[in-house]
Amino acid sequence: MPLMIELTPDGHRPVLICDLCHHSIEDLDLGRYAWVGEPTTPGDRRALYLEHRACGARYLRRKGPTRHAGALRELLVALQAR
Ligand SMILES: [Zn+2]
Repeated sequence: MPLMIELTPDGHRPVLICDLCHHSIEDLDLGRYAWVGEPTTPGDRRALYLEHRACGARYLRRKGPTRHAGALRELLVALQAR
């Protein structure tokens, strides 16, 4: 669950969670989004993962380069533009 709500002393706030280490991504510049596999036809979808850049790099060293990734800020801008 990469997007959660966290209770704070003043109310609540949305929190992005790294799918690999399960800790919050507090600095957007240290996060990225990723997916596995290549969509082949229009409408084809892949699950999207949020992760720390460092966690994603460790994953790639273990599993190989079968994933695609982009900057977390670019994802948020793309969602906002819809
Ligand atoms: Zn992480």
